[in-house]
Amino acid sequence: MPMLYIKCPKTGKPVPTGMNVSKGMDLSGFSNNGVNCPHCNQIHYWNGRDGFFLDDK
Ligand SMILES: [Zn+2]
Repeated sequence: MPMLYIKCPKTGKPVPTGMNVSKGMDLSGFSNNGVNCPHCNQIHYWNGRDGFFLDDK
């Protein structure tokens, strides 16, 4: 299953959430998850609607 990413609000770069989910999955169940951002070294909190996949393979 593909990795779910969020966008870093500071750098605009994709941040892997550590969650592998299927693309058809309803992401609305994810809320207030914290991920340690490798770009700016801060924790970003994200909801399911923030998530995206890096490629469409
Ligand atoms: Zn960041």
